[in-house]
Order: sequence, then structure tokens, then C-alpha cells
Amino acid sequence: MLYIPTIGLEVHAELKTRTKMFCDSLNDSLERRPNVNICPICTGHPGTLPVVNRSAVESIIRVGMAVGGDLPMVSKFDRKNYFYPDIPKAYQISQYDLPLVFGGVLNGVRLTRVHLEEDTARLQHADGDGFGAKLERRVSLVDFNRAGVPLMELVTEPDIKNADEAVAFAKELQLLLRYLGVSDADMEKGQMRVEANVSIRPEVGSKNEDSKLLEKSFAAIGLEGKPVLGTKVEVKNINSFKAVYGAIQYELKRQAEVLEGGGKVIQETRGWDDVNQVTVGQRIKESAHDYRYFPEPDLPPLDLSRLDLKALKISLPELPWEKRARFLKEFGLSATETESLIQDRRAAQFFEEAFSEFKLEHRTPGSREIKLLINYLNTDLRGLLTEKASSWDDSKISPEHFADLIVLISENKITSRSAKDILRRMSESGLDPYAILQTEGLEQVSDAEVLRGMAMGIVAAHPQPVADFKKGKENALQFLVGKAMAELKGKGNPAVLQKVFRELLGQEK
Ligand code: ADP
Ligand code: MG
Repeated sequence: MLYIPTIGLEVHAELKTRTKMFCDSLNDSLERRPNVNICPICTGHPGTLPVVNRSAVESIIRVGMAVGGDLPMVSKFDRKNYFYPDIPKAYQISQYDLPLVFGGVLNGVRLTRVHLEEDTARLQHADGDGFGAKLERRVSLVDFNRAGVPLMELVTEPDIKNADEAVAFAKELQLLLRYLGVSDADMEKGQMRVEANVSIRPEVGSKNEDSKLLEKSFAAIGLEGKPVLGTKVEVKNINSFKAVYGAIQYELKRQAEVLEGGGKVIQETRGWDDVNQVTVGQRIKESAHDYRYFPEPDLPPLDLSRLDLKALKISLPELPWEKRARFLKEFGLSATETESLIQDRRAAQFFEEAFSEFKLEHRTPGSREIKLLINYLNTDLRGLLTEKASSWDDSKISPEHFADLIVLISENKITSRSAKDILRRMSESGLDPYAILQTEGLEQVSDAEVLRGMAMGIVAAHPQPVADFKKGKENALQFLVGKAMAELKGKGNPAVLQKVFRELLGQEK
């Protein structure tokens, strides 16, 4: 039987503000010592009052502007009531009917809303030798460092058609949050968390009975041909892009099997078990009224006209999809090459700066030079940064010096082997490649006279490969060039060497 999958995502992201959502405790996701960044407000002591973090509100507004959502004039906070040890007030301050952003589109998926709330504390459970002590029973400890951290929640419409689209959406959202600088959005660190709502429905118009029944009931209520969605399951505890994919694929298959077996999918919350690669039933889904939402009495409604929306709009950087389109057009790169740069905003910036160095020298880099630029940036330069655990900001290699190095390579003044050596020295000294060449004598040997002298010696010493080459074996030439290169410690110009050997062996090309 054919089923049509329907997926909607709910994504939470911790905002990178200096302080927490409603108090001035530090918002530091890297703090490992428990209960260091806490105060009476984020630990929910009675008699304390929340104060809204302006920068968190502005972060959400900027996300809303980037996705083209509607910004209401007035927004407000609401209490979402429930008890759990990680929520000390027994309610979470969140937003219900007046979120900061309505609508918008990202990666072709319509957004329902983007709102602001506070993160919960973190629970740690242990028994036996846990927590460095002999425990007689299972113990749970609460770390409030994360309690009250500003949390963005973004909800999509059920527009997503398969697991691949869901992953692509989550990746593009992560990239957007990073470009905007509002969140590091690392899924493995829990800075970005995805919940997937998944349902299937039989394809209307197909021959199966379910489908006919559906069509009949749609018709009865005047919804001919309208897709009515199947019962959804919400999958939580998804901590990587791979898990987004795995959880959705698993759930689609599980639900199809339930329907095939004559059963009904029940609306519930399931958790993704990454070890066993299955979803596990957790609880029957609660609905909004279970939370007894009501307006937060300790916070006045937010009057958004008091924010400088123009300034916020101007503060938006070039967005990932804008940069992607421009790079494709402006630099004539392939989609893969473009993506390799777009995924890291600093790498893209470095590329552009190096590219414009060529222009400063009154020439436009040709396609070979652009390829060299990308390849050396993606492999050698990135490799060095990773090796030294340094960032683009504290790298000693300037785009200008990097462009100089690419020119040296493309003009065959240095071999790719010396280019790698020079790049390493550039990263250590901050010098330009010309200075390094002069002091180190790494310049490529391109002088045909010098190379001919050496080639004659090699021809005399290796009669067999010489004879092979004369019989038409091209490989034999590579062998001879290789010998010369070895003597030159890799500094010979391979093109000139080839030419010299061919001349010597009477086969000019
Ligand atoms: P709830 O009140 O249960 O949280 P919502 O209507 O707020 O449900 O939707 C939550 C998420 O589930 C949204 O991303 C929405 O697009 C998605 N969703 C709603 N109905 C379905 C469905 N039938 N199948 C898949 N996803 C759905
Ligand atoms: Mg929900």
C-alpha cells in the first residue's frame, strides 16, 4: 500500500546571549561545574521577579526578519504549567498565542511561528559508584546552569515530505542561526534540538480500501480531494542530523506496519533510542489545555514598536541562501564548491578577500586559479587550522599572502610540494610567501638548461626505461621525471622536466 508521509518540525535553539532570559546570571553553555551560574530568579525562589532580556528578544526578531515572518506590534509571555524537577517554578515562561514571529519560510518550508522561552535545568541520574560516591540507591541531581537560558522555539507547518527534506531544513536553520550569530546551534552539544512530528496517510486515489474510505468520509464533509492528515507521533530526544534522518525513517516504517496490520497509529510522544536505532513510546501526548496556559502576570506585554526595527534589519548579514546564489553566479563555482565555502561564513569571507587581492593586482583570476584557491583553502589551509586548533581570526595567514601563494603555484614558480611547506611557514611566521621563498630557497627549478644537464645524467644511468619509452611506453617517462624530481627534492618544474626528457629522447611534443 502506498502512504504519503507528512512531517512537521519543532526546533529549539539556545541563544548566545551574555546573560540568561530573565535574570543577570551568566549564560555559559561551556561551564562544566554545576550550579555556578545561578541566582534566586533562575532557581525559582518565591518573591523574585523576571526581567526580559532585550538581546534575546532582538535575536528572535532578527530570525523572524531573515525568514520573512510577520512581526506583531505586541507580543507577550505566558506560563506553561507542569511539574518536573528540572523546572523549579513548576511552570516555564514561554509564549502561547502572541509569539514574537508568525509565519515565514525557510528552505521552502512554511513556518508556523518562532517564539521565545526559557530552557530548563539539567538532570543527572546515577547509582552505584556514580557522582564519585557509593550510592545506596539511584540519585538524581539538578544542575541549574542551564535553567533560564534563552531558548528559541521554531515550529514548521507540516510541509516536509521525507527524512531528507527534514535534514536539509534543520541544516539550513543551523546555518542561518550561525550566520546571524544568535546561536552556535551545535546539535551534539544540545544547543539545537529537533523534535519531529511524523504521520502517514494512504494515498488518495490509490486502489486500497483505506484510501476509498478516506475519500468517502472527506466527501461527506465537503472536502473532496483534500488531504486530511493522519495521526501524528512526536519524536523527541534527537541529538544529531543523522538521528533526525534515522528517527523519521524508522517512524514512517513503523506506522506503515501498524496500518498494514490493521491497527491504528495512536497520537503519542516517542523517544529516539540512538543505540538501538528505534523510537520508543514515552507518553500519550498531552494537549495545550493540559498546561493551563495563562498570561505571565509578572511581565507586561512586549511593545515591539519600542525596538529599533530598522537598525535590527540593517544588522542582518548576507543570509546563507543569498550568499549561496551570489557565489554561484559571481565566481562560477560548482554547487559542491560553493557549499564548501558557504557552510563556514569565515571561510567564505577569506575566499572572497583572497579573490579580491587578484583584482587589486589588476587581473581577474582564471578558472584554474579559482580552483587552486578553493582546493588550497579547503584542504591545506583548513588542515593547518585544525592541526593548530586555531580559528580564522587568529590565523597568521592573511588573504593577501594566500593569494600571492596561489599566484606562485599557478605560474609554476613553486611545486605543490613546496607550496605546502611555504604555507606551513606562513602560518608560523605571518610572512608573505616571497619572503619565505627568498630565505629558504624553495623556488621551483624551471631553468631548462639546469634541468637538461640533470636529465642527461638520468638518461645515461637508466637505459632500460629509456628503451621502454622509445618503444612507446609513456609510463617510462614518468619514471625518469620522478628520478629527476627526487634529486631536486621535489623542487623541479614537472612540465619543463617532461619537455626536456622528450627532447633528449627525440620525441618532441
Ligand atoms: P501540538 O499541539 O500537538 O504540539 P501542533 O498543531 O502545535 O501540535 O503541531 C506541532 C507540530 O506538528 C507542527 O510542526 C506541525 O506542523 C506538526 N503537525 C501537525 N499535524 C501533523 C500531522 N498530522 N502530521 C505530521 N505533522 C503534523
Ligand atoms: Mg508541541
